[in-house]
Amino acid sequence: MGPRPEEIAAAGRVLASGGLVAFPTETVYGLGANALDAAAVARIYETKGRPASSPLIVHVKDAAAARALAAVWPEKAEKLARAFWPGPLTMVVPKHPSIPGIVTAGLPTVGLRVPSHPVALALLEAAGVPLAAPSANRFTAVSPTLAAHVRASLGDAVPVLDAGPARVGIESTVVSLAGQVPVLLRPGMITRQDLARVIGPVAAIEEFDEGAHPAPGLHQKHYSPAARLLVVRDGAVPQDGRGVYVGPGEMPGDAAEYASALYARLHELDRPDVDWIALEQPPDGPAWEAIHDRLRRAAE
Ligand code: AMP
Ligand code: MG
Repeated sequence: MGPRPEEIAAAGRVLASGGLVAFPTETVYGLGANALDAAAVARIYETKGRPASSPLIVHVKDAAAARALAAVWPEKAEKLARAFWPGPLTMVVPKHPSIPGIVTAGLPTVGLRVPSHPVALALLEAAGVPLAAPSANRFTAVSPTLAAHVRASLGDAVPVLDAGPARVGIESTVVSLAGQVPVLLRPGMITRQDLARVIGPVAAIEEFDEGAHPAPGLHQKHYSPAARLLVVRDGAVPQDGRGVYVGPGEMPGDAAEYASALYARLHELDRPDVDWIALEQPPDGPAWEAIHDRLRRAAE
């Protein structure tokens, strides 16, 4: 069950005339605006309470539309587009002058993605413009994987296209192709190893100075519930306060299923009477890298 074609068409008109629409993607729900309209994009920052120093990902309907928004389209971008688009991969490339500076927080680069969710693709088609879209929640809160999470965070001011749970469940992988070497700016369910199989070595952000590959937003507390989140071993939970422990058997043993369930679980457990949420540490390995990354940020 998803939104009816008339609803998508109406949402496309809202976007084309400068309004905001929250919509499903395969990663999390996004808060979209026309990426070529600076005033519309300003409404995203306002609605989220997001600082202007944090750049937005621009969603497009296909690789040709992505190329049109890039000043330079590297060979490696073309290869990754063929391998992983549509899908949960954002590529950072030099930006085309048509993209207003507010979208990229003044950076000379832009993050581009072709989502695979059929409703997101239909909406891009209906709007007829690229959509700047961060997660549809107040800044630093846990990203929404259900329409109900969007409404709980942003209220009723923004229309939400409801297509049920987001399948991937955590934010896209972000790789920069703007410098000499590809750099993984944010891990996601498309892993560093997956990227390396297509374009060769991909450096980790830790191997670079912040100045060389700016990844704004990555160093701030992010994706956090209101309750204190702890990642614990062998059930070693706090002795004080009221909390919930999520044991090893209570989350999926498969990384893709774990990611898909994680934020919904945090939203559900994050109640006013809960001081802490203690999650048993998930397994290690490449498939789990993005999950460890999000838990580390949420637990900061
Ligand atoms: P989100 O919060 O899911 O909308 O993702 C935005 C994140 O994508 C930012 O916090 C950055 O990590 C990354 N990003 C987007 N655009 C750029 C860019 N031009 N340069 C570097 N990172 C970017
Ligand atoms: Mg977010």
